[in-house]
Amino acid sequence: MFILKKLPYEYRDLIPLFSEKQLETHYLKHHKTYCDNFNKSILDFDVEGKSVLEIINDASKYNQTLINHGGGFWNHEFFWESLSPDKKEIPENLKLKLINNFGSLDVFKEELLNSAKTLFGSGWTWLILNKKTDKLEIIQTKNQDSPVMDFIKDKIGENIPLLNLDVWEHAYYIDYLNKRLDYLDNIWDKINWEKVVERLNN
Ligand code: FE
Repeated sequence: MFILKKLPYEYRDLIPLFSEKQLETHYLKHHKTYCDNFNKSILDFDVEGKSVLEIINDASKYNQTLINHGGGFWNHEFFWESLSPDKKEIPENLKLKLINNFGSLDVFKEELLNSAKTLFGSGWTWLILNKKTDKLEIIQTKNQDSPVMDFIKDKIGENIPLLNLDVWEHAYYIDYLNKRLDYLDNIWDKINWEKVVERLNN
């Protein structure tokens, strides 16, 4: 039985990105539902001793219900840790890598946010490291698909996810109604770049 990890901050700590109510609802209703349904969906399979990540790495062995809820469960844990109450500067080594890959920080910021703004329907925008080319890439996944899942890796290659942006309406509907662009304009200042570097170095 998997449990919902505690948030690394309080509900009010991400204001003005998310109000207390928005973050509480996202975590306690949406994320928790993925966790609960994932726990139900694994009952049909032998996953003894495996972590959530290990299970969804082999996503294609299971069924769509497990993929949806396992992805929803893990993607959100990753998302909460990608955000920080305090504005973080981009560490120098990451800054250089971003400039190398995208030309400039401004271009990177625009491409990242545009990827999220233009995603059709519900899903995620990710910054990943392509292990084969050692390049940083921005990709989108649909629904609760995740770059760690085997059938996604078949398309994009072996990778290390570094950052994700939740582009489901449930991430912003209380605070922003239908205004996805306003939500995404506010997210930049809350990105935990130190966490991104930690993931890059692991
Ligand atoms: Fe979400």
